[in-house]
Amino acid sequence: MTRVLRRLFGACGVVLAAGLFAPPAWASFESCVKAVRADVLKAGIKPDLVDAAFKGIAFDEKAVRFSRTQPEYRIAIWDYMAFLVDAARLADGAKMLSAHDKTLRAVEKAYGVNRFVLAALWGVESDYGREKGDFFLPHALPNVVCGGKKPAVFKAELIQALRIVQAGDVKLADLTGSWAGAFGQTQFMPSTYRRLAVDFDRDGRRDTIRSVPDALASAANFLDKAGWQSGLPWGFEVKVPASYKGPVGRSRKAPASAWTKLGVTRADGSALPSSGSYGLIRPAGRSGPSFLVSRNFDALYSYNAAESYALAIGHLSDRLAGKGALKTPWPTDDPGLSRVERKRLQELLIRQGYYKGEADGRIGPITVAAIKEAQKKAGMKPNGRPSKRILNALAGN
Ligand code: CA
Repeated sequence: MTRVLRRLFGACGVVLAAGLFAPPAWASFESCVKAVRADVLKAGIKPDLVDAAFKGIAFDEKAVRFSRTQPEYRIAIWDYMAFLVDAARLADGAKMLSAHDKTLRAVEKAYGVNRFVLAALWGVESDYGREKGDFFLPHALPNVVCGGKKPAVFKAELIQALRIVQAGDVKLADLTGSWAGAFGQTQFMPSTYRRLAVDFDRDGRRDTIRSVPDALASAANFLDKAGWQSGLPWGFEVKVPASYKGPVGRSRKAPASAWTKLGVTRADGSALPSSGSYGLIRPAGRSGPSFLVSRNFDALYSYNAAESYALAIGHLSDRLAGKGALKTPWPTDDPGLSRVERKRLQELLIRQGYYKGEADGRIGPITVAAIKEAQKKAGMKPNGRPSKRILNALAGN
């Protein structure tokens, strides 16, 4: 979730949760890094590799700031979905499904995990392998440790990351990812990699960075170990009676027959499945789309602990499999923007003098401030939200 939010908000798109922090004094940072380095050696990482890993390490303001901040506000589910399930990700996904058809089918057969779900997860985690993060883990992780964020946890992740290199699975220089250490096409944390990555292309290395078969099989292995049940849908959209007062929540599961008794029907009009146990989720409350979700939704949730994330993967997988858009609209009269539209919005803000940054599609605080200004000028409520209405206003529509 943090990763996905970070991509939504951009590099400076978060505010500090508890005000400004003072960067550590250089001397204390240096001695902290030295101590981390000593612990890494003690853990059995060879001196040559430790030397190479720590070479040129410097205070990384961005890594420390990211590790200490929380997203500014809860993003609306319809903005989240508009960003993750957009036309470009669908088109790219269709290309990837065709280009990697053989691999995806082989992985599906080996692990029992639906190939459209694997493609969706790949598309969201790393934009199908294109966006793996650019923090160099051996430098970012000591910064996070010395910045004070769960030092024991992130030191352990650093050691695991270097063990991956020491085992010959990936090259040190390839070890880039998020500030927190998630790396490669599946964005596994190093400890998750150590437990669950697999060598599906049988070249003797588990390489979730450069090998698509290894990455997809590793993600499938993760979901399998998280309880994925072959052949069971992750969930599906449903219609719920207006008078509904029954259970809500993915943990309150019941067989489809119980939901039928409560008046719940499938949104597309087809029959509820005869097998499986489902919980009802209503991410935007009573007025938005509702879903019955299975244990496979829970497996997706365990990949990244947010229901919105699991829903985005599930819905994207359905769309990649050729199913239609949601039947019930999200309860907003001002829909969210795709990645292309976010860039278009920034281009218009630049052209009309509201914004001096880059049109990179990442909506940070400077873009938010620019949107507010433009909204004021247009006589709209200045909430800073990148949405269709302000985009249309700036485009002169
Ligand atoms: Ca391999």
